[in-house]
Amino acid sequence: MAFQSLRKAGILKTLSLALIEPACGVGIVPDTDKAYRSGSGYLQPMSKSTYDVAIVGGGIVGVSIGIALLNSKKHLRVLLVEKENSQGLHASGRNSGVLHAGFYYSPDSLKAKFCRDGNEHIRNLCKNNNLPILECGKVVVTQDILEEKQLDVLLGRGTANGVALEILEASDLRKYEPLAQTYKRFLWSPNTAVADPGQVIKTLTDEFVRKGGEIQLGRKLKIVRDQDKVKISNAPINAKHVINTAGANADLLAKEVGLAMNYAMIPFAGIYRVVTSDKIPLQRLVYPVPHPINPFLGVHFTKTVDGKTKIGPTAIPIFGREQYRWNQGWNLKDMKEMIVGSYSIAKGKSHSLTSMIGSEWPKFLESRLIRDAAKLVPTAREVNGWTKRPPGIRAQLVELSTGKLEQDFVVESFLNSTHVLNAVSPGWTSAIPFGRYVAESFVLPRLD
Ligand SMILES: Cc1cc2nc3c(=O)[nH]c(=O)nc-3n(C[C@H](O)[C@H](O)[C@H](O)COP(=O)(O)OP(=O)(O)OC[C@H]3O[C@@H](n4cnc5c(N)ncnc54)[C@H](O)[C@@H]3O)c2cc1C
Repeated sequence: MAFQSLRKAGILKTLSLALIEPACGVGIVPDTDKAYRSGSGYLQPMSKSTYDVAIVGGGIVGVSIGIALLNSKKHLRVLLVEKENSQGLHASGRNSGVLHAGFYYSPDSLKAKFCRDGNEHIRNLCKNNNLPILECGKVVVTQDILEEKQLDVLLGRGTANGVALEILEASDLRKYEPLAQTYKRFLWSPNTAVADPGQVIKTLTDEFVRKGGEIQLGRKLKIVRDQDKVKISNAPINAKHVINTAGANADLLAKEVGLAMNYAMIPFAGIYRVVTSDKIPLQRLVYPVPHPINPFLGVHFTKTVDGKTKIGPTAIPIFGREQYRWNQGWNLKDMKEMIVGSYSIAKGKSHSLTSMIGSEWPKFLESRLIRDAAKLVPTAREVNGWTKRPPGIRAQLVELSTGKLEQDFVVESFLNSTHVLNAVSPGWTSAIPFGRYVAESFVLPRLD
């Protein structure tokens, strides 16, 4: 029934077009000659099949944990296994590339703990390796009196998290971002920046390999519990400790050993549109005030390091963890889990499922996306020639007993395994110190 009305409204066709563009320029292979190509990926000699640590999932979180382990104990044998033939094909290469400053998050959260320092780490990484970075800052603008009140909440959180922030009057906005509009006041975050996700994960991967880490690409691992051990069940890899950093698949792996049973995963598609920056020559990133409870920041304007102005991402609930195209990447299992998760949201008191779907699904239509964006920067309405940017998928966990979207990163340990769940935004910004935290608090103590 819902499909019928979507088809009539032309949304299914638009959805298919919106999702169809593949990620480009984000596939990463390590440069160093420590790794060598064999079959479908870069493999290490099979004789080295016993490791201290095996990391399942080669996104930014897995690589950062690997580096942190080798920084602490350089003789550890650490293997990182990625199911794709190159890295960065999922969230770590398909995100907005924004180095968040760290003011959105409740001060007692892991996000607050690691975002501010993570921002500094990636800035330094870019500077030390001559990677492009835009240190342009961002303005958060408002539509009405209710949103104005939220600015004070954000300022309070930012201050508690040690983040530089200011609330300024609308008359000052012209000096910061002349193309944006606000109600009476706006928030200025000088430390928000933009980098290139593809180049960042490539640089981190090279560091991991340089430090002695090993990588296997093109191998999808399974894990099982075998009595009092967690083991890799489908490859000749023995590891004293197994780390699950499988991103959108992390909860599936965790469930194999009996963890994460109180969670379902709902994938949310983040769709973008871009124009060359001469069409909308922004000086700053421009964001709305986020929804007070949903963990997404709302459609915003970002600048890219390759000279574009970008709007998005949406947060549209979809049916598959890797559904980058309308007719691919979804399956009945994912769909069932999405329905179970949605049902628990609908039953719970924290979020309104109907308003989430009602406000997000229409944004498959470019006109609706632009209409929302133009509330922040009105000239967006007059611009033609928007093109698509590869969509990303946020792997958002729902807690089944409460119907709440999990707000924070979740790390769980079981026997000789550690699982990183719900590594949603700002997981990219936070990855380096968060990786150190996982290594030092969960993995190393269990190796001794
Ligand atoms: C649209 C969007 C916009 C975002 N914007 C920002 C932003 O501006 N700033 C920010 O800080 N964060 C942002 N994020 C969040 C950020 O991208 C993520 O927090 C981060 O990339 C998570 O990294 P990860 O390593 O956990 O996951 P991933 O990058 O998804 O990596 C997991 C890897 O595991 C692999 N894998 C899965 N299963 C297996 C298996 N069984 N065996 C082997 N390998 C496996 C996958 O192929 C994948 O490469 C955004 C996310 C999205 C989707």
